[in-house]
Amino acid sequence: MRREGQNLVIAIDGPAGAGKSTVARQVSKDLGYIYIDTGAMYRALTLKALRLDVLLSDEEALTSLAKETQIQLTYKDHTQVIIMDGEDVSVDIRTPQVSQHVSLVAKVPGVRTEMVKLQRKLAENGGVVMDGRDIGTFVLPEAECKIFLTASARERAIRRARDLEAAGYKVDIQQLEKEIAMRDQIDSTREMAPLVQAHDAIIMDTTDMSFNEVVDKIKEHIRQI
Ligand code: C5P
Repeated sequence: MRREGQNLVIAIDGPAGAGKSTVARQVSKDLGYIYIDTGAMYRALTLKALRLDVLLSDEEALTSLAKETQIQLTYKDHTQVIIMDGEDVSVDIRTPQVSQHVSLVAKVPGVRTEMVKLQRKLAENGGVVMDGRDIGTFVLPEAECKIFLTASARERAIRRARDLEAAGYKVDIQQLEKEIAMRDQIDSTREMAPLVQAHDAIIMDTTDMSFNEVVDKIKEHIRQI
């Protein structure tokens, strides 16, 4: 379905560290669209659960937490700011501790139901680039453009290591590779909306592509819609 003017919906999915967020941010900036990082929402809820010592195997408690938590996305200079219960948690949601636990929270169906409601609302007027794991398959199956970004496990670990080192963390690349593999495993085998390529998505293996090449290729595809 072609929308009028600047109102397309672009879904970018893929495993951890494939470069989705940097690419999605640039594409949205170039098109004048809103960027929505859905991983940040699951991370915010995970941060709250960890702070409150909620047992991450307690699906009922996590579902209640998702229902009572206010998550908002705002923007400062094209950078997404994530507000949880009135607090800016944009930095705190990126810690290794949150990364290590987020998939356990995100696999709970009651949690996903709440997050997906918010995601669909944010996309209802179009003009958005949304990245995540289930955007093209479940959240916005009607999206006009679906991209599935991937890269080798090693390359994804290297990219994540670069981000973490830039944020001041000491990184063990082998350990990071293991953690990413574990997260992908949980994300792709969960019951509700697992990480899987949409049948109508364009698959891009970015292992040997530069950032600009990936962005240009996606924009080229969007021009052809
Ligand atoms: O994108 P990011 O790596 O920040 O996502 C963190 C985690 O959030 C993922 O590993 C996954 O468990 C969960 N997630 C999800 N569905 C999405 C986006 C993220 O389950 N649409």
